[in-house]
Amino acid sequence: LGAPLFAGLAGDVEVSFEFFPPKTEKMEATLWDTLTTLAPLGPKFVSVTYGAGGSTRERTHATVARIASETAIPAAAHLTCVDASRDEIDSIAQSYWDAGVRHIVALRGDPPRMGEKFVAHPRGYANAAELVKGLKQVAPFEISVAAYPETHPDADCADSDIDNLKRKLDAGADQAITQFFFSPEAFFRFRDAYTRAGITAPILPGILPVSNVATTRKIAGACGTEIPQWMNDLFEGLDDHPTTRQLVAATVAAEMCRRLYSGGVRHFHFYTLNRAELSFAICHLLGLRAPKVAAAPVLQENAA
Ligand code: FAD
Repeated sequence: LGAPLFAGLAGDVEVSFEFFPPKTEKMEATLWDTLTTLAPLGPKFVSVTYGAGGSTRERTHATVARIASETAIPAAAHLTCVDASRDEIDSIAQSYWDAGVRHIVALRGDPPRMGEKFVAHPRGYANAAELVKGLKQVAPFEISVAAYPETHPDADCADSDIDNLKRKLDAGADQAITQFFFSPEAFFRFRDAYTRAGITAPILPGILPVSNVATTRKIAGACGTEIPQWMNDLFEGLDDHPTTRQLVAATVAAEMCRRLYSGGVRHFHFYTLNRAELSFAICHLLGLRAPKVAAAPVLQENAA
């Protein structure tokens, strides 16, 4: 029958976690609970998204700055080119640098209304590659960019999308994080293609643990990710069973990570949606453990 599915995983993986900026105090409390649960896994970094059209500019900044000042986890801020001039973007970047933030996830962003074509601000950055170049002139940030195993919907073809990824890395980005996907084969085909194109920078697979297929389908359509039929089948009949959906979600995502691990992947980037449970469970199945805290020295009563 072969080795048990999760046997032999040495815990030799690195992880990073993505959050969105909370809107309310309650959501902020949830995010901090999540961070408290995930922090002991020693993420290489955590990142905070930037709402469409810059709609979360202040909240993203406040969240990243708080993580940077109150935790030891390296925090990255997402930043997009949408609806802002180069000067505005450069000044946001400068304020990140001044707040001690050293890592930016540099993105073009999507048009404010879904389905419309992206139009650059007349005095703005036209695409992510230009943004990377601009950010490097503001400060020596570490920069991550986006990559698309199933090709970005705006790309002419898969090869031109890889050329674009290469332009972003050549412009100074250090690594890329992929859009979520549900087929390890799609990731491996993409890896073969970018390796053939001479890309050697780390490309971290973005893992979205799915517990609600209907919601995921809405986002997936816009970003070119395919949701396989077997996934629909798996969640069929579970609409009124949220706990079971979570269990199924963890199983599916952990199995995908295990297959990526077998193919040599050692860094996983989790789209947490600000919840700890699924990402924590998958990391655990991948063999990751929080270091054991050294036992506190016992205070000696009546010590001299
Ligand atoms: P780009 O790399 O600029 O490319 C966009 C498209 O244009 C590609 O198809 C590319 O091939 C094509 N292209 C670019 N330049 C050229 C050129 N010179 N010639 C020909 N074709 C070109 N969105 C948000 O709003 N906020 C976020 O916080 C956010 N975080 C994300 C995090 C990750 C890890 C990922 C994968 C995506 C994220 N997005 C976010 C979504 C992202 O903004 C969209 O996918 C957007 O449509 C493209 O952004 P990009 O940086 O990939 O753009």
